Amino acid sequence: MKILVTGGAGFIGSHVAARFLRDGHEVSIVDDFNDYYDPRIKRANVAALGGAARLFEGDIRDRDFVEGVISEGAFDAIIHLAARAGVRPSVKNPQLYIDTNITGTHNLLAAAHRSGIGRFLFASSSSVYGLAKTVPFTEDLPLPQTLSPYAATKLAAEQLCGNYAHLYGMRVVCLRFFTVYGPGQRPDLAIHKFTDSIHRGQPIPQYGDGSTRRDYTYIDDIVQGVAGALRYEGPAFDIFNLGENQTTTLSELIIEIEKALGKKAIIERHPEQQGDMPLTAADITKARQFLGYNPQTKIREGIPKFVEWYLSTR
Ligand code: NAD
Repeated sequence: MKILVTGGAGFIGSHVAARFLRDGHEVSIVDDFNDYYDPRIKRANVAALGGAARLFEGDIRDRDFVEGVISEGAFDAIIHLAARAGVRPSVKNPQLYIDTNITGTHNLLAAAHRSGIGRFLFASSSSVYGLAKTVPFTEDLPLPQTLSPYAATKLAAEQLCGNYAHLYGMRVVCLRFFTVYGPGQRPDLAIHKFTDSIHRGQPIPQYGDGSTRRDYTYIDDIVQGVAGALRYEGPAFDIFNLGENQTTTLSELIIEIEKALGKKAIIERHPEQQGDMPLTAADITKARQFLGYNPQTKIREGIPKFVEWYLSTR
């Protein structure tokens, strides 16, 4: 298969690209190497693919660039992971999130439609559940209110995906990722930041009383879910949760990192942050049934693997 991975230089994208290259597919990458975090990390992610993936460097907000890539590439499938991905920064700069995550996604859908590309996977997020009250979250829950511009852009982009399936018969699958971690994790995410600070003997900021809960998903499990979604032959439009179906409190998370590092955290308490969800919990029954999704790595095993990778980069 000829596969385009947008955001292929990023954390999840580079793991996804590596997996499909290993499976013998022809993989191309789109990325703009922006400085949301150190672009050298993204360059290194691409270099680790050993030149096996074709790189299109550019911005998905640029419609002509997107049209050019897609008409040139003759892809069988697009895995659309490129996005502005931070929840809290989206509160400060919503327009950038709207332009990248909504307009950028629409540019890709429109170009895919014009080029007759049959398969489109979209990286959505657990954040779309916002204030949903029923836990664990199932894909068919009514979504009353999101809590950040980031979440709103992901929900809007899901709706655009649904439009293209409904109007033009494009096969589109939205995957709602639940906090992803593992080797190469973005440096702005809590597990990475906490590990770094504890390792260096610096205080870690704990927002709230430590009781907020997250469903943390190990990167290999996410990649497995993406691979399942690429083979999916169900309705033209569908949505799946990809999580571990196990929640961990912030306090428990810090203890796991302390154990893996063999060092105590210095905790600095702060009030809860705007835009944060109190709880995320994935019901993954649907992904298990239709994608053959079967997550393997519990937080107790995943954190030591992450910390081992982190220490190897020092
Ligand atoms: P990441 O920031 O490491 O990867 C995103 C990549 O997209 C980056 O390499 C970035 O340079 C690229 N990109 C951003 N804007 C672009 C633009 N305008 N044009 C071209 N490329 C652009 O983030 P990640 O953690 O790998 O997340 C990948 C996807 O998964 C995102 O869509 C994110 O919203 C989604 N997601 C991630 C998580 C998580 O916990 N990491 C959870 C839910 C959803």
